[in-house]
Amino acid sequence: MSDAKIRLFVEHPLGPGQSVPLNADQAHYLFGVMRLAPGDAVRLFNGRDGEWRAEVAAAGKRGGILACTGQARSLQLPPDLWLIFAPIKKARTDFIVEKAAELGAARILPVQTAFTNSERVRQDRLQAHAIEAAEQCGGTFVPEVAELQPLARLLDSWPEARRILWADESRVGAAETLAGQPPGPWAILIGPEGGFSDPERTRLRALPQVLPISLGPRILRADTAAVAALTLWQAALGDWRAG
Ligand code: SAM
Repeated sequence: MSDAKIRLFVEHPLGPGQSVPLNADQAHYLFGVMRLAPGDAVRLFNGRDGEWRAEVAAAGKRGGILACTGQARSLQLPPDLWLIFAPIKKARTDFIVEKAAELGAARILPVQTAFTNSERVRQDRLQAHAIEAAEQCGGTFVPEVAELQPLARLLDSWPEARRILWADESRVGAAETLAGQPPGPWAILIGPEGGFSDPERTRLRALPQVLPISLGPRILRADTAAVAALTLWQAALGDWRAG
């Protein structure tokens, strides 16, 4: 039996003695590309049941079966932090989703704003990026990527208890801190390359849950701003803090 170097995301439930059927893509990857054979070990996670050791019970060209042999780690949930962002160019949008999953966002919500260029995004492709990022970074949780929706509609039904850290480019250079803010449920809001429109600014300022902040003295690209804001929040209020 080989060492379990491969980590694979599966939809199937994981548990003691559980058999996990593989689809054609997974079988191609494990047996065609990685050359695993019956008895070889892999690690599995599904975003719900933690990480499990498993071994190949049956290997075929178009399918196969893995058998769970024991739990390696329990499920580790990220803090209750959502990332709301306006999609930009394809590769940069992929980057935002990948980094949000790595940095510990619990939910990722693409939104259309007044100056969003992108009319549609492929939710399934973005979800696959989030899964791949969790596979790579050792995460046991995969953030859900929501369908694209208008920012205005999202704000219409915004939960009272969830605060919004609004990365507001008009505050560039202001000295601001998250010290003293409650850790509870939060969302980070990042605008598109064109920034936020005046009506959007008025709407955001009127919401009591919204905390506008500066991300330093320079205007950042939207993808950089997303990483900077996630880092700032995680270090101040999230699971990077000691204890
Ligand atoms: N076109 C806008 C302008 O010139 O003012 C800049 C938009 S910026 C490229 C994209 C998004 O990143 C902004 O909407 C904001 O959410 C965030 N952002 C970038 N730099 C920022 C900063 N220094 N402070 C706060 N937010 C920032």
